[in-house]
Amino acid sequence: MSKPKPSDPTIFSKIIGREIPADIVYEDDECLAFKDINPCAPVHILVIPKKPIPRLCDASKEDMVLLGHLNLVANQVAADAGVGDAFRLVVNNGEGACQSVFHLHYHVIGGRTLQWPPG
Ligand code: IMP
Repeated sequence: MSKPKPSDPTIFSKIIGREIPADIVYEDDECLAFKDINPCAPVHILVIPKKPIPRLCDASKEDMVLLGHLNLVANQVAADAGVGDAFRLVVNNGEGACQSVFHLHYHVIGGRTLQWPPG
């Protein structure tokens, strides 16, 4: 199987299209939030835009409002999960930063003591 390119449709597009199941905790016209299938903390939620932006570095000025919205949704899902005052928001940008799914996503991580630096 050939290596996926950043422009290829991803598993997250299939979650948006309800082609595969996910534990969805929030949805609106612009974005979706669902529990990570392999959580690294008691709370580990992914917030994604419905627009298929592969990586954060592929976002443009026209995505400015959308990016702000994703941050506010991250706040909201963290609060709803009971970790509104102690959570980490992570974007892995590119293969070299451990991005494995090339559809922009924010990891909302919390519910345990978080160390810094993350490594
Ligand atoms: P990345 O390494 O920053 O790209 O993060 C991708 C995340 O997507 C990982 O934490 C995976 O566990 C998660 N993931 C992959 N497939 C699924 C799925 O089908 N449902 C929920 N989370 C997924």
